[in-house]
Amino acid sequence: MLENSFQTLPEWLHAEVDPTPVAGARLIHVQSGMRQEIGLGMIPDAELLAWLNGEKRIPGDQRIATRYAGHQFGVWAGQLGDGRAISLGEFLTPTRGRLEVQVKGAGPTPFSRRGDGRAVLRSSVREYLCSIAMKGLGIPTSEVLALVAGTEPVERETTETAALVARVFPTNIRFGHFELCRHFNRPGEFDALTQYTRELFFPECTIEEMLREITRRTAHLMAAWQDVGFCHGVMNTDNFSILGFTLDYGPFGFLEDTRLDHVCNHSDHEGRYAFHRQPDVGVWNLERFLACFRDLVPVEQLTSILDAYFFDFKAETERRIRLKLGFETARDTDSGLFLDLLRILHDQRIDYTWFFRNLARTDWIINPSVRGEALQAWLKRYQERLVLEGRNDADRSRAMIQNNPKYILRNYIAQEVIEAVSRGSERELLDWIRVLERPHDEHPGFERYAGPTPDSLKDFEISCSS
Ligand code: AMP
Ligand code: MG
Repeated sequence: MLENSFQTLPEWLHAEVDPTPVAGARLIHVQSGMRQEIGLGMIPDAELLAWLNGEKRIPGDQRIATRYAGHQFGVWAGQLGDGRAISLGEFLTPTRGRLEVQVKGAGPTPFSRRGDGRAVLRSSVREYLCSIAMKGLGIPTSEVLALVAGTEPVERETTETAALVARVFPTNIRFGHFELCRHFNRPGEFDALTQYTRELFFPECTIEEMLREITRRTAHLMAAWQDVGFCHGVMNTDNFSILGFTLDYGPFGFLEDTRLDHVCNHSDHEGRYAFHRQPDVGVWNLERFLACFRDLVPVEQLTSILDAYFFDFKAETERRIRLKLGFETARDTDSGLFLDLLRILHDQRIDYTWFFRNLARTDWIINPSVRGEALQAWLKRYQERLVLEGRNDADRSRAMIQNNPKYILRNYIAQEVIEAVSRGSERELLDWIRVLERPHDEHPGFERYAGPTPDSLKDFEISCSS
């Protein structure tokens, strides 16, 4: 059932726009669970493809792009908007509530500025896989319905080919939608958007409670990213969801060799969005967002909501550290122990995911092949801490495996899949969807991808154009 509620908001916030079909469109993959969920399980693949590609309508669907604004790299960027994404409708689903399907790469919109409205296959495969990987890691994210590849050439640094990602979320509303109304002095639109957001996504909440909850979710998301070593790369306020899920995958990357100051976006020359800065950027973005509510909420209250971020982030980080290190009880020294470890992993450039997965093993702590005095000394402290737990080692190991993934989306893995899909082979994509959906499980035949990235495949340039 479709209910296109965003369209009921004032006209200035959205525009009707027909997708521009990509030439030579081919349905590369459909997430069948999501397809069932939104009730499109029965329609043939060809019709699903035609709908996603803007060649056919489904009764009750829509075609809209929304207007938003935002701060990009710390600077007010003015009006932006869905420049290449078109929403095809909001489905009311039996178990997951409202799910909006939005096609990225669908062609120009009134908000495209100088862009061509397209997305390339390379970045689309990366977004598709990473959405699945984040969900597998239990981290809030936009989800995906389908991946479509076209033959149409798209000019970037080189000539690439066009693709579509059909992504799915309860709502597309970003911090930037509120900033837009505030900065362009549109109080009527601002109030309507606030009311809409509260009623649909934070029912029972006052405005203050809603802002408090958005703060909590943002803090928890930042803690989750740090836990798994995820670097977003473009943490502009227009890329921040008001529901606190990961949104707009561009030049993202997971830590491979641990580098706490890792910058995954080559256009980010100042390292504003470096890995270790992400939690501070989260609060900076929230400050921009909360400031929009100055006329509705007393400033002291906004300040205390913003302050709560630090409390939420710390509590969630401590909870995650305990799970990551296999502690059932909390000790004051745990955060220090963890931070000391991060410093060692950073100094020795040890593979982040590989290390924690090995730390989960029962035979590894006492493994004499573990090199480096600092690491040996740390492992001794860790063992002393484990003694205070009184939990047997097999139980610790089992618990840690559930909280330390074996597989993450390494850049070279994404690259292998992109090359395979470009050659017309879909097997690699299917394999990696299966692995990344369950990243904590064993996947026979894939073990070599769980180890540190081979030197020859490290740090190859990820083009940021998408
Ligand atoms: P992003 O960095 O992908 O989050 O994009 C920032 C803004 O630029 C958003 O408003 C996008 O819709 C827009 N944009 C990015 N790439 C394109 C493109 N190829 N065509 C039109 N708009 C784009
Ligand atoms: Mg964006």
